[in-house]
Amino acid sequence: MSENKIPYKIYLDESEIPSKWYNLRADMKNKPAPLLNPATCKPMTAEELSAVFCEELVQQELDDTTPYIDIPQEIRDFYKMYRPAPLVRAYCLEEALGTPAKIYYKFEGNNTSGSHKLNSAIAQAYYAKKQGLKGVTTETGAGQWGTALSMACAYLGLDCKVFMVKVSYEQKPFRREVMRTYGADVTPSPSMTTEVGKKILAEHPGTTGSLGCAISEAVEVAVSNPGYRYVLGSVLNQVLLHQSIIGLETKAALDKYGIEPDIIIGCAGGGSNLGGLIAPFMGEKLRGEKDYRIIAVEPASCPSFTRGKFAYDFCDTGMICPLAKMYTLGSGFIPSANHAGGLRFHGMSTTLSQLYHDGYMEATSVEQTSVFEAAEQFARVEGILPAPESSHAIRVAIDEALKCKETGEEKTIVFGLTGTGYFDMVAYQKFNDGEMSDYIPTDEDLAKGLSSLPKVPVQE
Ligand SMILES: *Cc1c(COP(=O)(O)O)cnc(C)c1O
Repeated sequence: MSENKIPYKIYLDESEIPSKWYNLRADMKNKPAPLLNPATCKPMTAEELSAVFCEELVQQELDDTTPYIDIPQEIRDFYKMYRPAPLVRAYCLEEALGTPAKIYYKFEGNNTSGSHKLNSAIAQAYYAKKQGLKGVTTETGAGQWGTALSMACAYLGLDCKVFMVKVSYEQKPFRREVMRTYGADVTPSPSMTTEVGKKILAEHPGTTGSLGCAISEAVEVAVSNPGYRYVLGSVLNQVLLHQSIIGLETKAALDKYGIEPDIIIGCAGGGSNLGGLIAPFMGEKLRGEKDYRIIAVEPASCPSFTRGKFAYDFCDTGMICPLAKMYTLGSGFIPSANHAGGLRFHGMSTTLSQLYHDGYMEATSVEQTSVFEAAEQFARVEGILPAPESSHAIRVAIDEALKCKETGEEKTIVFGLTGTGYFDMVAYQKFNDGEMSDYIPTDEDLAKGLSSLPKVPVQE
């Protein structure tokens, strides 16, 4: 290992933190389809979106043409607390696998929230503050986004109201306490504190909640309280824009050593880390300069890309949010209760959906026991205890490296290690006790969710 020129960790200098985000949409010929107003089925205007989101974020959401957007100095200063994130050469994993493949991972878990979500949380909180708002509302599933937003809001002195999917609220009490330590107000969802929560509880008594329900509650609170707006941790174009910092740093680190990846792999929940990681690489691909294999990895129990439909759908269960054209399982879809690995959103970023539809990337689904096997193998040789979500990408990186072992190809594989799994020990415990099972939804299960897709007239 010692004669290798490439270090175990490729660090960038603080001054090399990107000064602009890259907006992938600017290089897309087929732009992602616009968000639609569910009442009129017409594209949402900036004015309509401004009732829910901060003004500057609305501009970013609707901007399909500006390739580079300045990162305000205040946000760059915050990034300096935990960035640049290291790009790690997984020498130990390569050796354990006996593969000729070269494996790299971009580690985004080096902050208290434990994931990449802080990259967008600070940006969204910053624009809310700049607009003079009192606070923001949001939902959180596994808890990483809520934690990240709480941290960002504490830093800027904003109020933060989080609706946390009930099953996580109960399974992850320490997540909740981290958020409260950062000053957030955390409510288990569905709750009796909102009209939509009451309605969902009346229809599904005893439900343990879903991201879709929690989104509906958070939006309701934002629009009914002056001085508040709603913020979302994934799916939206603005979030992919902020997360492009992951890919820009990754590319800068690889460029230092003249490394070109063959395969880029990321887990996909709503698509933000993947969209961010691949951004500059996809840009090159879209402009016809380079080619890469890009693979989205999703859970077999929540397979939006691989088994969903590319159609307009609601982003939330209460059907109050704008319609987004995306790969979706239907806004009524709730993954089976035994699903432990996160990535449980029914839809997918409109940008990634369009790119997948146009053949610029691949998608695959993996079962959770094999995901935790990969997590365990990775933890034991690379030292980091990975988040279950991130471990989806680890699974496929290992599988691709093992293919290289068979063929003798020295491919370069880059994957996103989005976070750490310290708050996921209930899932790890199940796995360690041999009590984790795989449930793959049947076609009938999926048909139920898809039957709820709204009918939307064809857009020109
Ligand atoms: C939220 C989260 C994800 C999935 O969200 P995306 O928007 O698809 O990136 C993946 N990994 C971790 C650690 C997360 O917290």
